[in-house]
Amino acid sequence: MKKFSIAIDGPAGAGKSTIAKIIAQRLKIEYIDTGAMYRAITLKAIRNGIDIGNIDKIVELLDKTDINFTNGRVYLDGEDVSDEIRLPEIGNLVSQVAAIKEVREKLVTLQRDIAKNKSVIMDGRDIGTNVLKDADIKIFLVASVEERAKRRYKELLEKGIDVSYDDIVKEIEKRDYIDSTREVNPLRKAEDAIIVNNTDKTLNEVIDEILSIVYKKLRCNV
Ligand code: C5P
Repeated sequence: MKKFSIAIDGPAGAGKSTIAKIIAQRLKIEYIDTGAMYRAITLKAIRNGIDIGNIDKIVELLDKTDINFTNGRVYLDGEDVSDEIRLPEIGNLVSQVAAIKEVREKLVTLQRDIAKNKSVIMDGRDIGTNVLKDADIKIFLVASVEERAKRRYKELLEKGIDVSYDDIVKEIEKRDYIDSTREVNPLRKAEDAIIVNNTDKTLNEVIDEILSIVYKKLRCNV
């Protein structure tokens, strides 16, 4: 089969990464979690004691930072930080870091590079509108704020991270606001993306819905 790409965008906690991972396994293609890359830079800034509002310092740090995404794990300067980047303090600050033009330029180049020679499913906020504008399939995954907060809350509790549900709702709403109102490549549905609603549906139902869109598209194009 010829190389193809799937873009999944949508707001925080809509279930993009869980779904994209399973679809990648089913289709035997690579999954790229672009949010993990923005989280890794944010982690480095925090570790270095940089104030997130200090754009110059973050840009300076970028040049000395190596981010790598392999086999579903994200590496920051060679260290696997896949678990640490999920901590709520990263979630609270990542959108500010992701709004910096230079950060986006560096990570978008990296994301396009990874996708260059293979079939991929990539999730994020600007994949269908910017990173992989020519993606064969574009999905815009949405869900109600309550559903997204419930899911995130459960996920964090299962990992033993103590959080309050109300704080999660606030974090999600704040992140959506910053992500969709920033100047550079905001969160937006691509014109040719198909909306999939992940509210009140089981994981299998949503996976089947997306896979049927994928198969239909690929049959037409391959
Ligand atoms: O997907 P996840 O929730 O882990 O993404 C964390 C943050 O990274 C988002 O809230 C957003 O600010 C940023 N992001 C982005 N563009 C992407 C992926 C993530 O700006 N393609």
